Amino acid sequence: MKVRILKGTKQIGGCITEITSNKGTKIIIDFGEDLSNDNQKVKKENPQIDGLTVGKKKYDAVFITHSHSDHIGLINYILEDIPVYVETISKIIYILQSVFTSKDIRIKTKNMDFKKAIYINDDIKVTPYIVDHSAYNSAMFLIEADGKKVLHTGDFRSNGLKGKNLENTLKEIGHVDMIITEGTSLSRDDIDNETEEHLMQRGREVFQKYDQIFILQSSTNIDRLKGFYNLSKECKKTFIEDIFTSNLTIRLNDESVPNPFDYDDVYTWVISKYRKNKSLKFKRKYVYPFTERIKQKSYKDKKYCLMIKSSMLEAIQKLYNKNFITNACLIYSMWDGYKEKEEMQKFLEEVKKYGIKEIIDLHTSGHADRKTIRLLNSLKAKKVIPIHTTKPEELKEILDNVILVHEYDIIEV
Ligand SMILES: [Zn+2]
Ligand SMILES: [Zn+2]
Repeated sequence: MKVRILKGTKQIGGCITEITSNKGTKIIIDFGEDLSNDNQKVKKENPQIDGLTVGKKKYDAVFITHSHSDHIGLINYILEDIPVYVETISKIIYILQSVFTSKDIRIKTKNMDFKKAIYINDDIKVTPYIVDHSAYNSAMFLIEADGKKVLHTGDFRSNGLKGKNLENTLKEIGHVDMIITEGTSLSRDDIDNETEEHLMQRGREVFQKYDQIFILQSSTNIDRLKGFYNLSKECKKTFIEDIFTSNLTIRLNDESVPNPFDYDDVYTWVISKYRKNKSLKFKRKYVYPFTERIKQKSYKDKKYCLMIKSSMLEAIQKLYNKNFITNACLIYSMWDGYKEKEEMQKFLEEVKKYGIKEIIDLHTSGHADRKTIRLLNSLKAKKVIPIHTTKPEELKEILDNVILVHEYDIIEV
């Protein structure tokens, strides 16, 4: 078996891994967008990879680790006759994200479920394992071929609600010959990630101080959503999701996720943009199921926790004009890097005009800290390749047998 990193040996996001068996079966793992615009090696509008997106088909399958756009964002460019495997719920999230952002979607993806192996040409076996990350239902892959084993970690961590499972999963996987691991956190200091539970302890003070809490977070970060729901309940605030989040939470098929259908105390905020500008087909499917859930009483006592997006400034202004914002703060609960985007900067500046007294950073990483990466040593791999990092050389301090590679280098497993 041979491995090539087609992209991502020295950048975070947009990593593409190619694995080829001795018989010549070829698979790709992840095909997403670059996170920063000045670093686009594979053009967003027209990603050209011979045999994958252009020319004659050379690849037998593509596997996607999770629903973040830097891992899945380019799959609609893949040649139609190449099957793309996406975990069942991650696929639902991907479709929903595409519909709400009016992006093209690749309709024909194949379902994949955790711990159910998929065989490609009876030659390469791929088994997905659920792993803790800031995107719901993220996977790491065990790839077996030619009597060898490779573990591709995807993005992972251990400080979330599923984090405790990591050691058991690694035990189950046992010895592997090669590990391809993310190293996002290698560019920062050696500090242990704050756990989601601890983050919410800090959040409690904020919930006690303010009456209206606006939350800016990624909707797919379900651990975080659960945390804020629990705090709302505890601090007697009405929990209100934006319409995208509600569409997502009702489709996860997971009753432990606060959603307006299974929870009497979860509401949906349907802002006028969705009632006016969208097609009837869109409204029937994604808007009308929630319209009866906009109850003025959710705002009337002026004690609420509201999930928002940076595109909702106008709607927030309307709430302010109706005097529903009196003692409010905004919790910024996402990666700091998004603040560099112009749209976000503008939003955070403008929103202060509408009664938001303070913007509070409350976030913990979705990526493995050094302590967590160190757990991979238990797999006793002979070769370890860092990807999804700007500091690959730092991995040598943590793991044995690290080799630094360039894009397109051929590495024998
Ligand atoms: Zn990523
Ligand atoms: Zn991710």
